[in-house]
Amino acid sequence: RQHMARGLPKQKPILGVKQVVVVASGKGGVGKSTTAVNLALGIAANDSSKSVGLLDADIYGPSIPKLMNLRGNPELTDSMGSEALPRFFFFLSTSMSMGFLVEETAPIVWRGLMVMSAIERLLRQVEWGQLDYLVIDMPPGTGDVQLSITQNIPISGAVIVSTPQDIALLDARRGAEMFRKVNVPVLGLVQNMSVFHCPNCNHKTHIFGEDGATELANSLGVEVLGDIPLHINIREMSDKGQPVVVSKPDSPEAKAYLKVAAQV
Ligand code: ADP
Repeated sequence: RQHMARGLPKQKPILGVKQVVVVASGKGGVGKSTTAVNLALGIAANDSSKSVGLLDADIYGPSIPKLMNLRGNPELTDSMGSEALPRFFFFLSTSMSMGFLVEETAPIVWRGLMVMSAIERLLRQVEWGQLDYLVIDMPPGTGDVQLSITQNIPISGAVIVSTPQDIALLDARRGAEMFRKVNVPVLGLVQNMSVFHCPNCNHKTHIFGEDGATELANSLGVEVLGDIPLHINIREMSDKGQPVVVSKPDSPEAKAYLKVAAQV
């Protein structure tokens, strides 16, 4: 127990990075990557003095390049930090993704060890520069990659994204418990797609349930950092590579992300 409290033995900070915030989810398709992008942009939008980077650690399904309409061919450096690989985008200082290194349509078929070494390279062989925050979009679930990231670097906190649906919440709980086991503070839950507000008739529908995340947060003793509505702007602007936080900053859906960003 004492040993855990001092941090895990292999943990080493990323040079120049003050705080690492990971965005995780128990399962795929709940809006984790969309949240990670809007959260990273939101932290920078809320306070322009903060430099923020974004790492897409979803090795098998990198989506950050598409979500931010970025393309690139950065080369990873052989030795740590010898070459800069900046990806400038809106307010973000840098971002990095496996998606920059492989063809968009190429399947990524790797065994565990190769995935680990890719993660290690993305963490250590990218010149992140001086960052106040590095937001990491984690792969979904609680597998090797998630564990290896938490064991490799000190993490200030985890934000867990879930829909209010029972099945997603069950997996979200597993995620939260994994972080606790490795001594990563859970900053809170983001409840995504909790309400659909019909633009035609104004009716509000809770497609995936209403308060599931609140109940889970209560039982875990963590906060609900925000409620993101199911909104066509979020989907459409994400598909265009123009996240709502920057493309529609005054909309209620952007404000919902900005509120989350203000709390990390
Ligand atoms: P994950 O990273 O959990 O797999 P994504 O962030 O890729 O999920 O989101 C899955 C899909 O749902 C994407 O098409 C995204 O645009 C859409 N989406 C996510 N959150 C919302 C939302 N609140 N409203 C509308 N569409 C959303």
